[in-house]
Amino acid sequence: MIHLENVTKTYRRADGPVHALSEVSLDVAAGEFVVVRGPSGSGKSTLLTIVGGLGRPTSGRVVVAGEDLGEMTASARSRFRAEQVGFVFQTFHLVPYLTVVENVAVAASPQRKRPARMRASELLESFGLGHRMNHRPAELSTGECQRVAIARAMINSPGLILADEPTGNLDPDNATAVLELLGDFHRQGGTVLLVTHQEFASSYAQRSVTLCGGAIEDRTDSLSV
Ligand code: ADP
Repeated sequence: MIHLENVTKTYRRADGPVHALSEVSLDVAAGEFVVVRGPSGSGKSTLLTIVGGLGRPTSGRVVVAGEDLGEMTASARSRFRAEQVGFVFQTFHLVPYLTVVENVAVAASPQRKRPARMRASELLESFGLGHRMNHRPAELSTGECQRVAIARAMINSPGLILADEPTGNLDPDNATAVLELLGDFHRQGGTVLLVTHQEFASSYAQRSVTLCGGAIEDRTDSLSV
């Protein structure tokens, strides 16, 4: 599902270059659930943005879902993002003036035949948010907001979910509910790359990789039970 080969990312800043990723090579098979760990500033978010086609590497090869992202035009890359990848962030990035169902439906790819609103409603029902459909994000708890964000990430039935500290703002019960949704997605064959600092989140993953100073540490832990 994911093939990274010698991926380097250098940000140019006024105070000099920042080497966020250095020669990172990583393979994640379709259907794997992998946790990415590492201290703040070690390149975890940069890795996710590159895998999801949001950012481009300075050098190296990135192949995701059989697509070589380096070979794609900007419009092909944005279609790839919409159809193949679901993003979930620590801060939910919901649109405040849209209702819950609109927040999910707005991310739907126009290519799909079934109406976006119908698919969004079904997803929200299955996430236990049927009663919240017509509320605005400000009326929801943080746990509900993150479940809406996960529904939005899944609206196009992507093969891959990229989650950057999705439970960082949640209490343990809500964090568990969010991880269960990611776990369900994984059990149905989806691939998950989850950045987290939280130890208990790792129990949902089969494998962890650790970034340190923009490089993957040699040791890769298998977490399978
Ligand atoms: P992490 O997610 O592990 O905290 P990041 O990928 O966010 O790490 O950041 C890695 C390094 O790259 C940090 O030094 C950070 O300050 C820098 N960085 C991240 N994004 C940018 C950016 N858009 N412009 C400049 N520097 C950045």
